[in-house]
Amino acid sequence: MKIILAKTSGFCMGVRRAVEAALDSPNQHPQPIHTFGPLIHNPQVLNLLEERGIKSIDTVPEKGAGTILIRAHGVPPSTKLGLEKAGFNVIDATCPRVIKVQTIINKHADSGYASIIIGDKEHPEVMGLLGYAKGNGFVAATLGELEALPSFEKAIIVAQTTQNKAFYEEIKQWAASRHPRYTVFDTICGSTENRQAEIRQMSKDVEAMVVVGGKDSGNTRRLAAIAAESGKPVFHVESEEELETEALAGYQVVGLTAGASTPNWIIKRVHNALESMPVSRAGKLRFFFYRLQKTLLLTNLYGAFGAGCLCYAASTLQGIHHRFSVSLIAMLYVLTMHIVNNLTSNKANQYNDPDRAEFFRAHKISVSFLSLVSALGYLLISFSLGLLPFTIILLMSFTGLSYNLKLVPRKWFSGKALGIRDIPGSKTFFVAAAWGVIAAIFPVIAKAATPLNFITLVAFSWATVLVFARTAFYDILDMQGDRIVGKETLPILVGEEKAMLILRFALSGMGLFVLAAGLAGYLSSLGYLLLICPALMLGLLEMHGRDVAVPGLRWEFLVESVFVLAGITTFLWTAFYLN
Ligand code: SF4
Repeated sequence: MKIILAKTSGFCMGVRRAVEAALDSPNQHPQPIHTFGPLIHNPQVLNLLEERGIKSIDTVPEKGAGTILIRAHGVPPSTKLGLEKAGFNVIDATCPRVIKVQTIINKHADSGYASIIIGDKEHPEVMGLLGYAKGNGFVAATLGELEALPSFEKAIIVAQTTQNKAFYEEIKQWAASRHPRYTVFDTICGSTENRQAEIRQMSKDVEAMVVVGGKDSGNTRRLAAIAAESGKPVFHVESEEELETEALAGYQVVGLTAGASTPNWIIKRVHNALESMPVSRAGKLRFFFYRLQKTLLLTNLYGAFGAGCLCYAASTLQGIHHRFSVSLIAMLYVLTMHIVNNLTSNKANQYNDPDRAEFFRAHKISVSFLSLVSALGYLLISFSLGLLPFTIILLMSFTGLSYNLKLVPRKWFSGKALGIRDIPGSKTFFVAAAWGVIAAIFPVIAKAATPLNFITLVAFSWATVLVFARTAFYDILDMQGDRIVGKETLPILVGEEKAMLILRFALSGMGLFVLAAGLAGYLSSLGYLLLICPALMLGLLEMHGRDVAVPGLRWEFLVESVFVLAGITTFLWTAFYLN
């Protein structure tokens, strides 16, 4: 099955802004933290917010304490005033585009205009807008309801920001012919327009559409209705569990989109479920290879193989006669640390990587056994290489294993136990440094006769920056889930745009450094060939920037393949150039 993912699917600017404001609130504002109404239509997320102490209230209490956040839909001015009077510290996260519509209504209401809002009476945004009409506001959801309104001397017409664009065009024509004195404002937000335009086009090119989002989310229901206008089957689901497997498995090309309040990880889950659907019905061989690829990625055997390739390439770049045992140590070390990390941080995976979370939950004993065998394997091999390599590997193991431990007791630091992982952004640097050491420095130490030199620094930079880019890139893809579970990764600290800039800068800088070292005569021609790796990584970042990335296992496979490619390039260079 070919799945076409809409570029516009998922959180819009306003929802993302409100969700981020809510998640950042516990660290920035007086507690307890509340939201006025549920932040998004997703029960799991709401439960998690509650676990983080962020509760939703629906009415204005007489007395309130702490902070309350007004979500993207906005509220009537009287509600905001009531919340302030009750004693809350009010954080207004109303979307700027909704504020624009509120301002239009407010200004015209002051001049005696009636305000006609085209939207859903029960929708919180419409209820909020109505509050700005100073008692002279009317809501119409259909042309019939509009016809039934009295004729006003002065009136404006505005649309709920997520209204159907085509329907609003009909309203405009109706107003022009029936009440030309009415002023009509284009208030459908650009994000909604683009989303609707994309789904109209997409539904022409696919056999069926899957629309992901809350059943009570107005904008998602509207997307489903627009897709249905094409006459193609439309499946509106809240999660992958609601996918009609039997019905969907018969289609070759399926379009996938999601409402403005649907988190990334839910889209990812639905995408993964769709991706695995036709394979289970295909021939046994294809099914076998699909399962093999999935298992290799979920256990990180493929990633570990990539670490071995990186080590092979970095040691050959330094002119060290390669020993298979050194690459095997790198592979087994990375495999062990990855399994331990996944066994101890399964909570974040539930959101970012549900397949992996399920895999580790279902195979807890076998993966634990695999990590044990793997750890024993690399310790024994490194011991056979000498006391120094063994000591280095032992130290790296302790550091890796202690990453998830709470090293600073609760009583020492404001009641919160701390570990290395609690240092903001630590994972990105920690993983990159560990891979860099094992790929570029360890082979030198294992070969006791070779001293550390400038070429080691070049190889270390090449390997470390590549792994840094890979890890930070995964962090960018996982930002929403990480925020929810309170993980402070580099992209969360600096923002997605700056994180992408840092990655581009790091990869380009490293590429120039390797190139300069090559031109200065420090490196063999392999140095130039290995520049293909940062170039490919930059290409993948570019694909992500242009929204042409495919989420899920295929994407992970592409990223990990950059390291495998380093190994293949080195192998070919050794076979055809050296011999
Ligand atoms: S749909 Fe548009 S107006 Fe509504 S919250 Fe999102 S960005 Fe803001």
